[in-house]
Amino acid sequence: MNIILMGPPGAGKGTQAQRLENKLDIIQLSTGDMLRSEVSSESDIGLEAKEVMNSGGLVSDELIIAMISMRIDKEDCQNGFILDGFPRTSLQAEALDSMLIEKGLKIDHVIEIEVDDEAMVNRITGRYSCSSCGAGYHETLQKPKVEGICDNCGSNEFKYRDDDNAETVRERLNSYHQQTAPVLEYYREKDILKGVNGMAPINQVEDQLESIVG
Ligand code: AMP
Repeated sequence: MNIILMGPPGAGKGTQAQRLENKLDIIQLSTGDMLRSEVSSESDIGLEAKEVMNSGGLVSDELIIAMISMRIDKEDCQNGFILDGFPRTSLQAEALDSMLIEKGLKIDHVIEIEVDDEAMVNRITGRYSCSSCGAGYHETLQKPKVEGICDNCGSNEFKYRDDDNAETVRERLNSYHQQTAPVLEYYREKDILKGVNGMAPINQVEDQLESIVG
């Protein structure tokens, strides 16, 4: 099964993708995570993307499309994938359609996690993740059960994203409304877009998603 999760930064795409990944035995493909790993390894892609990411803008369509196309071909995607953070522009959505036809694949569900922008600034500025397993936390909304210890893997090292500050968040929300809103329209016209209430507690959002993907 192949799924696209849509929604602005902070909507909970990553959190819910990780839960669906475990439940459906398919893989989360986050273009943001892929780019961050390119940035930390200081690869050519990383060097090209770093500045744009830190300003809250979008990395070039060409680079992202090539990156995702190569990733989908890997063995671990055979059972299916959850796209998190892609497609983010109309051009990416069209390119995705053509690449899936070429690969003999299709998207089964496009789901928008619907949230209020204002709440996203608070959600994003307090979030951090485990450096070891990537589990996500928040300073006030979702603390680990034991302070300083990851619930999932027991690590005591955590990290914050460079672009999770109030100023960049506004810019990322702007990019979302200007460039990604047309993508929602694209899928709405194809009649495959569904929505869930992303302002509900995490477990309830998960339940709503589950009722869509079965
Ligand atoms: P995310 O982790 O999805 O919030 O992405 C972090 C940053 O990576 C974004 O603010 C963009 O600069 C870049 N990025 C991630 N996915 C894409 C994409 N599909 N197209 C363009 N830029 C992207």
